[in-house]
Amino acid sequence: MRDEKVWDLTVIGGGASGMSAAIFFQKCLSRKEVKNASVLILEKNDRVGKKVLATGNGRCNLSNQDMAMAHFHSHQEEFPVKVLSLIPQKETLAFLGDLGILTVNEGNKLFPMSKNASSVVDAFRFALEMNQITVETSAIVEEVRRVEAVGQKKIFSITLSDGRKIFSHALIVACGGACAPSLGTTGDGYKILSSLGHKVYAPKPSIVQITTDTSVPRALSGMRLDCDLSLLCSGEVVARQFGEVLFADYGLSGPAVFQVSGEVSRRIKKGKLSAPMQVSLCLFDEKTCCTLKEELLLRRKTFSERPLEQLLLSILPVKIGNMILKTALNRPLSLPISSLSEKDIDQILYTMTHWVFPVTGTRSLEYAQTTIGGASCEEFSSETMESKLVPDLYACGEVLDVDGDCGGYNLQWAFSSGILAGRSAASKFQEGNDAN
Ligand SMILES: Cc1cc2nc3c(=O)[nH]c(=O)nc-3n(C[C@H](O)[C@H](O)[C@H](O)COP(=O)(O)OP(=O)(O)OC[C@H]3O[C@@H](n4cnc5c(N)ncnc54)[C@H](O)[C@@H]3O)c2cc1C
Repeated sequence: MRDEKVWDLTVIGGGASGMSAAIFFQKCLSRKEVKNASVLILEKNDRVGKKVLATGNGRCNLSNQDMAMAHFHSHQEEFPVKVLSLIPQKETLAFLGDLGILTVNEGNKLFPMSKNASSVVDAFRFALEMNQITVETSAIVEEVRRVEAVGQKKIFSITLSDGRKIFSHALIVACGGACAPSLGTTGDGYKILSSLGHKVYAPKPSIVQITTDTSVPRALSGMRLDCDLSLLCSGEVVARQFGEVLFADYGLSGPAVFQVSGEVSRRIKKGKLSAPMQVSLCLFDEKTCCTLKEELLLRRKTFSERPLEQLLLSILPVKIGNMILKTALNRPLSLPISSLSEKDIDQILYTMTHWVFPVTGTRSLEYAQTTIGGASCEEFSSETMESKLVPDLYACGEVLDVDGDCGGYNLQWAFSSGILAGRSAASKFQEGNDAN
């Protein structure tokens, strides 16, 4: 390798975290007027930022005004807390602002002002160009090794799928997780990091659909409603979320379901739930239920001859109303409304507020928006994102064992951890430069 080029920094993965790391690295050095560093991004896809394009239904929900640390999860809980205290949201928004990405809020969620993910990717692409970062697309990293360089300290030897070798002094692994493989993330970062001695927690899906007993959801497939969702484990409420729920052939989907899905995933051991779980939907609050009881008692009088299937007319969509009645009463809906007792009416109201779906698991990583698990944070410094095992090796973004709730927390993590990795690699590069 005597005459081979050795890059100062190589980043594997041109996603949100990898691009942030590479750009911040160059920005830090240009601020300090350090000599030009050579930076290379190796991206498997034919373009950078493909996953960013898919975020927030193409609108890119890039952060959240509610930055409570309970929205971030890891086996090392303190790790994301530390990283996000070093690179808080304010700093990531300033970084995005420098790139020309202004933000607006919708509720607590932050979006680019354009509400358009492709404008975010464009801003990143221009910044890569302006900061003289070389990008190689359709470059699939297959293997990374530490090798002796002639007369120098060890460097990284990176082998691509076409057999080419690339050499680099510093390396940032930003390959993402194992969810949404069609967007390039097939867990390669885990293989790379474990081959370098790092421990990896098995990946599990989060922000994903929940699978349930299918008899009811399948019959209502495609229908949606707003409700208060509780997730129960052995009868105890372990998560609650108000929002939209969508019925589907396999179970339940929609924003409220996505938000609690990680709690199901975390309780799956060897493919099985460690304890019985249920989703319970509450369609009306207590006050509305009192009004509804009076209304149903009145309908029993005024619509006494009509069939039961007309009882909930205009209260709920017909299909959902009939399903509630079937679940609550277990009798033909052709019977007249007059056949209802007051106890039956209480049972209908109870079902509307405790509509229970036995959980069987979640859909696979293929359908998920983020990955639970990944490279153990214990073996990385939360001050620098540098490996404690391999000098000059950094990791950031979803490849690490950190996952965020639905609502912009995963991109926030990608930006914060990417910026920190880039900043730390730049400091080390500068130290090396000063010493020479
Ligand atoms: C459909 C969808 C919607 C989402 N919506 C949101 C949202 O609105 N808000 C939010 O906060 N989060 C959202 N997320 C999650 C968020 O996109 C990710 O957590 C975040 O992009 C992770 O950033 P990253 O840089 O770590 O990884 P990624 O963005 O996944 O980038 C990793 C890159 O590495 C490349 N790569 C992988 N292996 C190799 C290899 N061997 N060689 C070279 N390159 C490689 C991949 O092609 C990829 O481009 C969504 C995810 C999905 C799938």
